[in-house]
Amino acid sequence: MSNPNSSRDLSSRPPFVVTGASGYVASWVVWELLNRGATVRGTVRDPDNAEKCWHLREMDQELPGTLELWKADLLTPGSFDDVMQGASAVIHTASPFIMGEPKDPYSELINPAVKGTRNVLEAVNKAESVGQVVLTSSVVSIYGDSKDLEDAPGDAFTENDWNTTSSADYQAYSFSKTLAEKAAWEMAKAQTRWRLAVINPGFVLGPSKTPRTDSESIKMIRGMLTGRFKIGAPDLTMGVVDVRDVAKAHVEAALHADAEGRHILVNQSLSFLEMGTILRNRIGGKYPFPTRKIPKLVLYLVGPSEGLSWSYLRKNLGYPLRFDNRRSRERLGIEYRPVEDTLAEHAEQLIETLS
Ligand code: NAP
Repeated sequence: MSNPNSSRDLSSRPPFVVTGASGYVASWVVWELLNRGATVRGTVRDPDNAEKCWHLREMDQELPGTLELWKADLLTPGSFDDVMQGASAVIHTASPFIMGEPKDPYSELINPAVKGTRNVLEAVNKAESVGQVVLTSSVVSIYGDSKDLEDAPGDAFTENDWNTTSSADYQAYSFSKTLAEKAAWEMAKAQTRWRLAVINPGFVLGPSKTPRTDSESIKMIRGMLTGRFKIGAPDLTMGVVDVRDVAKAHVEAALHADAEGRHILVNQSLSFLEMGTILRNRIGGKYPFPTRKIPKLVLYLVGPSEGLSWSYLRKNLGYPLRFDNRRSRERLGIEYRPVEDTLAEHAEQLIETLS
């Protein structure tokens, strides 16, 4: 596999489409493309929503590339047809990201994720110019619960693994991402013109380009700063990755035909307590970062009111989590930033905006 040249100038390329451009992850994808001189067509639900879009317009002013904002909704059939015409590559990130169990998993998560992905790829099928599609999936399409690692063939999750344990009633977000990725593979295999590369990030953290604070990634670091885990952290582990590495992976995957297939994007697996320890060491003891694990019994009592069901706790609490990230390093040339920097820079940014 070739090692991609990340500094490649993209100014002479036909446009790149980025769906859900105003989101936490997508805003960095747009930044990465504009920084390399690309023409970007970012789709948003409402281009006139200044609160969600001003940072994108600012990037357009400051960076060498050119940004156009197009209106499109995942659930409106045909909504993406026009924006695809003449584009070379499509990076499909738009999808609702809600942790915890929603009231109506189909309308809140599964339909926008699955029907939305089909809608976007049907538009790709109608645009002869598009040769490469990159889908933002997740590691939650690879595994459902940390306990699933016991049944995985290796000692770490790889791109060969699929989540078989989530459902509409249990981990609906994970289920939505799994179904959406499967739908994308089905559509990719039914044609021969465009290639599909999938990015499967772990929990994405790091400084945000959007001023919004409602993204799950941002909520989590804010929770650390504002004392959500003051009495103790649940003994839960997640794969963590920097948002800037995730953005770079999307762009490299859009540029390289040999990047076809799935790519796990995880730097390191960390427990909540380990994250708290990193933050305390880097930011200082002024903030109520967790200093101990919350006892199991207490967690079983308070967990359900915090969105952690007993079933979830049984299959995740205290279980280790390991991912093989070799493919992202070898194919996409990702050199992961230290997680200490990811966490500290994210927290420092939030401290500045919260004060
Ligand atoms: P986010 O900031 O909440 O962004 C989600 C984006 O999806 C927003 O731009 C949102 O548009 C768009 N969207 C939602 N419903 C839509 C609809 N019906 N029509 C059009 N757009 C819609 O979350 P994020 O963390 O950046 O997530 C982006 C992608 O990364 C998602 O596919 C998510 O599953 C994936 N991912 C995230 C993480 C993570 O830890 N953050 C990890 C793995 C994978 P509006 O601005 O209009 O609301």
